[in-house]
Amino acid sequence: MQRSPEPPSKGRGVFCNRTLNMRSIRAIGYDMDYTLVDYHVEVWERRAYECVRDVFVAAGWPVAHLEFDPNAVIRGLIIDTELGNTLKANRFGFIKRALHGTRVMEFDEQRTTYARTIIDLADGRWVFLNTLFSLSEACLYGQLVDLLDQRALPGVMGYRDLYQRVRVATDGIHKDGALKREIIADPERFVVRDTELPLALLDQKHAGKKLMLITNSEWEYTRAMMTFAFDGFLPGGKTWRDLFDIIIVGARKPEFFTYQGPVFEVATDDGLLRPSVSGLRTGVAYLGGSAAQVERALGLSGDEILYVGDHMFGDVHVTKSVLRWRTALILRELEAEVGAIESFHAFEVDLKARMEEKERLEAELSWARLSLQRLQAGYGPPVEGTEAEWHAHIHATRNRLLEIDASIAPMARASGELANSRWGLLTRAGNDKSHLARQVERYADVYTSRVSNFLHATPFIYLRSPRGSLPHDPSTPGGPPLSPALVTGR
Ligand code: IMP
Ligand code: MG
Repeated sequence: MQRSPEPPSKGRGVFCNRTLNMRSIRAIGYDMDYTLVDYHVEVWERRAYECVRDVFVAAGWPVAHLEFDPNAVIRGLIIDTELGNTLKANRFGFIKRALHGTRVMEFDEQRTTYARTIIDLADGRWVFLNTLFSLSEACLYGQLVDLLDQRALPGVMGYRDLYQRVRVATDGIHKDGALKREIIADPERFVVRDTELPLALLDQKHAGKKLMLITNSEWEYTRAMMTFAFDGFLPGGKTWRDLFDIIIVGARKPEFFTYQGPVFEVATDDGLLRPSVSGLRTGVAYLGGSAAQVERALGLSGDEILYVGDHMFGDVHVTKSVLRWRTALILRELEAEVGAIESFHAFEVDLKARMEEKERLEAELSWARLSLQRLQAGYGPPVEGTEAEWHAHIHATRNRLLEIDASIAPMARASGELANSRWGLLTRAGNDKSHLARQVERYADVYTSRVSNFLHATPFIYLRSPRGSLPHDPSTPGGPPLSPALVTGR
């Protein structure tokens, strides 16, 4: 008998914030882009970037020389549209790193600008980079802020106006069809095929779960991408359409989850629409509609439905907070993130030992200062030793602390540059969780790097959340690694 296989790597695990028994899930809804269909981010985003840049070239802006930098930003950063900055915040919304345009803000400048600021994403000033589709937009915005500061962008009324223009242009290239046609014509170049994915979905279907596709992409693009990803990898000549009980394109998430929009049937393969008169039926593809219609068609309640998507707000946040569906976030970067954390492990152990020594010496210094204070003022319990001895002890302890700080500083820098030299890890900000990590924790019941990780988990898994870790808990192995960022204040 074959034993259960291990997941291919730690980074391909399914991580659990809130206990999820897959056996009690009766229907699973899937997002398409960056969920069922994964892209070469650099290729997709470079083309998107170039298309938007060319819109501005055509408008007469001096931007033809600009190039996409795939490492310029990472998901989970926040654009400050008021000041033209890109920020990384911790879980409380305090800003830990900042760039003005493409220039790194020095610590003092950052502190002066943001000492009194706590980010609240409900305020339109802030734009959260929710998905990998955000990378081109944020990269270009930073570069254009530099040009705006040089007064090279005529007619732009400031950082917020600039952001609006980038937003509108990016929105346009996603909708106008030319970029999508390029991808449809050459999917090999853009799509990362995951050959384990069809089996993962087949397992779920045969385990009795209703499968749904709910994507914002339009019909023609969806059909092309799903055909490329699934057809030829399913048994018995089946196609992607046979996998799904409900297919919805042009869903307009997040409104899909909150409003009752009109629904149309996709009547022909080339996308002809007709109004839908009855409820959602299997075998028919729909455009539009709403989550309420889905619930009615399935006859299920929120906690029996799992929705799997990559968009922090549109797929996971709204779904959880409005409908109480169970949620799974696809975080493709997790594999590299976990790999980087693992490769840093030995370093981390050394660092932890130094930090513990630092804390011990700081406590000793505090105690020495208090003893000297009592000795000098002549109060409190008797203090052993002379003032000169206490002064010498304080001096020696301070020197030892300076030595430790000097050895920690380069390690702190290296730790803050893991995975991305400018922004560090996706899920960490300084010594704390990042704002993204906090969102994941709040809204995603589970998170994983790709859908095919459910193949290894099986449709029957009982995913249990770890016991919460609070500052007073005894530290648990495998808990968050201690980062020295606290020491550098970054
Ligand atoms: P989903 O992830 O399957 O729901 O589909 C995402 C769709 O939204 C893709 O077709 C993207 O091209 C599209 N998209 C991503 N960003 C934007 C945008 O800013 N405006 C309009 N469409 C977008
Ligand atoms: Mg998506």
